[in-house]
Amino acid sequence: MDFPFAESYKIKTVEPVYRSTREQREQWIKEAHYNLFNLRSNQVFIDLLTDSGTGAMSAQQWAAIMNGDESYAGASSYYKLKKVVEEILGFPFFLPVHQGRAAENVLFSALVKEGDIIPGNAHFDTTKGHIEFRKAVAIDCTIDEAYDTSVSHPFKGNIDIGRLENVILRYGKEKIPFIILTLTCNTVGGQPVSIENIRLVKKLAGQYGIPLLVDAARFAENAWFIREREEGFRNRSVREIVAEMLSYADMFTMSCKKDGLVNIGGLIGMRSKEVFDKASVYNIMFEGFLTYGGMAGRDMEALAEGLEEVVDEQYLESRIRQVEFLGKKLDEFGVPVLKPFGGHAVFVDALAFLPLVPREQYVAQTLAVELYREGGIRSAEIGTLMADRDPVTRENRYPRVEYVRLAIPRRVYTDNHMLYTAVALARIFERRNFIRTGYSIVKEQPILRHFTVHLKPVG
Ligand SMILES: *Cc1c(COP(=O)(O)O)cnc(C)c1O
Repeated sequence: MDFPFAESYKIKTVEPVYRSTREQREQWIKEAHYNLFNLRSNQVFIDLLTDSGTGAMSAQQWAAIMNGDESYAGASSYYKLKKVVEEILGFPFFLPVHQGRAAENVLFSALVKEGDIIPGNAHFDTTKGHIEFRKAVAIDCTIDEAYDTSVSHPFKGNIDIGRLENVILRYGKEKIPFIILTLTCNTVGGQPVSIENIRLVKKLAGQYGIPLLVDAARFAENAWFIREREEGFRNRSVREIVAEMLSYADMFTMSCKKDGLVNIGGLIGMRSKEVFDKASVYNIMFEGFLTYGGMAGRDMEALAEGLEEVVDEQYLESRIRQVEFLGKKLDEFGVPVLKPFGGHAVFVDALAFLPLVPREQYVAQTLAVELYREGGIRSAEIGTLMADRDPVTRENRYPRVEYVRLAIPRRVYTDNHMLYTAVALARIFERRNFIRTGYSIVKEQPILRHFTVHLKPVG
């Protein structure tokens, strides 16, 4: 008999969560204008809105917090973090910042100018935002399989090398300050990139003398998938794979709210002293002095410990298996889900789930609200609301697929919470043919409307 999978940690501190009644939830979601961002966290039983900054720290991390050195300059906590950045990530120069988008802001201020072209695998929205804010253009070169829900591919985050080369030939290397590789690729569902693909991207970038920037928010989860899925890596340690993966990068940005296993923090890693010097100016302007950036000394201590813990294979196995557990349960219950399951979330295909709800009535949002009503579970709409309006025509942009994303915080929930979530969705799935109407917009902002939109039920 095979062992069932058990978590690689036990629980020292608990935080009670409240299971509300359906009547309470009906009232609360109405008061929230049917926008899950407007709910208070104590109105939520299981919060799968995001895996960003929502993880649980270990006893060792909390202990490290007490060792935080809050000196303005040259804090010992900075040097502790520096040692870990060198040892695990293999970078000689780094800057601490307060979160991932701050890393983008600082580094792109140094390197990106108007008219630049930045190819990559499906850029994350803040990354794209920081590129477009500087009047540069992000070009998505992800392989086609990433967008085809019917095909399974072990590395759906991979870059299409031919497409990347075409972009370089078309615009010229002078226009391209760097190529971005996001590990794992959040935008296409937390899908990993293979070492083979990273090597090919690096080779091509090298031929044209273009630097490679890795967005390393989920570097350890990516390394785990390489170990599991890529030929020849079964017997390599995650630490070794991380070292190889990042050895191809000239720079990295990282939101430490994911694989840093901390609630706040970010990093920029660089190999070039020249780039470090340039970025340092912006770091001082936007974040803080070089030895703390946007972080308190105690947060740098917790991050140094978190980076050690995240490359632990038993931790990563629990992490990835939990996401897979939820995905498999949903699959068993017949709920349409994106496959293979990613590293940090399970994506429910809302169009396949609710075929009777018209597209103009926000199908994924309808399902997300229904899931809250059913089980007090908060998820994220990755659909028409998020896709926003066309900037010129102001018409809704309808994405090819609409998802409800169930993002799983690290070390926070048990498999019973996952099972509860799967059952809630299965119960909705049983009565899906009675759900025929969705929502209409009462009020929206001109950009990033999904955060603040007010909705009302149709009919
Ligand atoms: C979260 C994230 C970011 C931005 O980081 P924040 O800490 O939220 O500012 C950038 N890239 C990727 C891939 C991310 O997942």
